[in-house]
Amino acid sequence: LRILGIETSCDETAASVVLRDESGRGEILGDVVLSQLEEHSLYGGVVPEIAARAHVEALDTLIEEALMRAGVTLSDIDAIAATSGPGLIGGLLVGLMTGKAIARASAKPLYAINHLEGHALTARLTDGLPFPYLMLLVSGGHTQLILVKDVGVYERWGTTIDDALGEAFDKTAKLLGLPYPGGPAVERAAKSGNPDRFSFPRPLVGEARLDFSFSGLKTAVRQAAQSIAPVTEQDIADICASFQNAISRTLKDRIGRGLARFKEQFAGTVEHPALVVAGGVAANQTLRATLQELCDRNGFRFIAPPLQLCTDNAAMIAWAGAERMAAGLPADDLDVAPRSRWPLDADAKALIGFGK
Ligand code: ATP
Ligand code: MG
Ligand code: FE
Repeated sequence: LRILGIETSCDETAASVVLRDESGRGEILGDVVLSQLEEHSLYGGVVPEIAARAHVEALDTLIEEALMRAGVTLSDIDAIAATSGPGLIGGLLVGLMTGKAIARASAKPLYAINHLEGHALTARLTDGLPFPYLMLLVSGGHTQLILVKDVGVYERWGTTIDDALGEAFDKTAKLLGLPYPGGPAVERAAKSGNPDRFSFPRPLVGEARLDFSFSGLKTAVRQAAQSIAPVTEQDIADICASFQNAISRTLKDRIGRGLARFKEQFAGTVEHPALVVAGGVAANQTLRATLQELCDRNGFRFIAPPLQLCTDNAAMIAWAGAERMAAGLPADDLDVAPRSRWPLDADAKALIGFGK
């Protein structure tokens, strides 16, 4: 199967052509991503209206470029897959409408893809990972621990009850006067900092449920910065390092419990349990090291897809479409509506025909 994928849910405009062969092996034939980072950095965050306009301007060209790089034309494509949620509604409309138009004009099936399903299935494209496995999604908009059971069958084991982890990085950076996006800036500053200088809170640590909470951390950072004003560069480095340290310890506890639950649930049936990480925060080396160590200790494979496939891209959307088609799941009607909110663990079958 050759699938054309379209992604416009946030601040990346992306198009991709992905191949899935009969054995389930995947290959990215052409992949282009245009980040709107510069358009938004002035405002310190994504501005929905600017994002939607930028998607409109770029998408057609990106789709042509993806097809060209893949060395195919539309007639070689078996289906169109477009992100239809969750995300910013303006951007979703642009991508989904474009997908529908191409599907109608070329008489190909359209798959309306949940963006989170794209993240969830990426490790099967990159590593051919068999079901079931655990996935930690840590991005600007999401922090979720998901059991990936099968195509379209997901269980959300944990989620943030307030800020997403990437959001915590971004807000912390803003508080400290570091540039947007905050993740890379905080990580850079932390390199020369003392991770033990501040003891920041580790919410929910020790609790049996697998949820996350990061808003208290941001408040603690603000208080720390205020208590030592004027802050020096070294203070900022220490705060950033201590911030990452608190996150590491929190994740060790939270994810550690998740791994234990997985082992309990699949005792004897899953030979090589695996944890996959996805989302922009997966770029963070401290976080990667923490998860790697945790997995090593618990006998799990740790899989971190290449960074450009951890952040938003259309290859994962095309791949999710390919997996759905190969699994025999029905394509979507052309009147399917985008959904700004769309939890991944809603029953896949109940979602068919949603929006009518
Ligand atoms: P979503 O995909 O959930 O809709 P998004 O587009 O904001 O949201 P991504 O593009 O996957 O998510 O990731 C962006 C987030 O990743 C930002 O919050 C950014 O600060 C964070 N991030 C990027 N690099 C790093 C890093 N090295 N350390 C920590 N966080 C990082
Ligand atoms: Mg993004
Ligand atoms: Fe994403």
